[in-house]
Amino acid sequence: MPRLEGKTAIITGASSGIGRAAALLFAREGAKVVVTARNENALAALAEEIAAIGGEAAILAGDVRDESLHEALSKLAVRRFGGLDAAFNNAGVLGAMGEISSISAEGWRETLDTNLTSAFLAAKYQVPAIAAGGGGSITFTSSFVGHTAGFAGVAAYAASKAGLIGLVQSLAVELGARGIRVNALLPGGTDTPANFANLPGAAPETRGFVEGLHALKRIARPEEIAEAALYFASDGASFVTGSALLADGGASVTRV
Ligand code: NAP
Repeated sequence: MPRLEGKTAIITGASSGIGRAAALLFAREGAKVVVTARNENALAALAEEIAAIGGEAAILAGDVRDESLHEALSKLAVRRFGGLDAAFNNAGVLGAMGEISSISAEGWRETLDTNLTSAFLAAKYQVPAIAAGGGGSITFTSSFVGHTAGFAGVAAYAASKAGLIGLVQSLAVELGARGIRVNALLPGGTDTPANFANLPGAAPETRGFVEGLHALKRIARPEEIAEAALYFASDGASFVTGSALLADGGASVTRV
């Protein structure tokens, strides 16, 4: 039996990487998906791919820093598919990077807005929609960076991702009695455009360095992280809330 049969899920950051892989996996597992990102062409291509495997996707392009996008996404899920059961709030950026004195206040705010404030805005509109259907699941993509590991030059990113853990803990307690589970997914290095090793201008040896940070001595395929997102959205995680799940290939326990 497909693991998300009869469920509707919102997935943010679905134009690329982990979010795209999750949208395809959720659809393959029977979910109707509402997908968003700024790149509308990529969303349209994704929706076609989902239709080709017999799934159904509604697309809405927008910026996760925009409150009205989140209201519209939840309304779209209810209008088009009859309700909302799960959300995978996954959009994010590495954002403003560099030595602390070189980071502008504007760059800091943009990073926090994209990675953390967007999560608050998403939950604000997802919670009533999910509660109306009797409960469900909200998952946020955090990172092992800022939780179990510190790296120089990514203070804004680390702070935003650590902030998500606090949001998860508070919302898990606030929403548990209404049957809404809230969790954080903490990927390790994943082979997407956002990975440090894939940034434009990254030195060729960067990839080997990043791979070596992990016990598995490689980085993840986005599909491997999507499996953890699927777990949280599914009934298999029915007693899991307030957690921070590391899917990091052992990066958090690796010291050499
Ligand atoms: P990715 O391929 O670059 O995907 C990032 C997604 O976020 C894209 O779909 C992008 O879409 C969307 N996005 C970024 N800024 C946005 C904005 N302002 N408004 C709307 N959508 C926005 O990278 P990824 O690795 O899959 O990243 C997914 C999540 O995993 C992020 O939260 C990231 O921090 C986290 N993560 C990644 C790694 C890694 O090594 N890759 C490790 C740990 C955690 P548009 O550009 O089309 O808007």
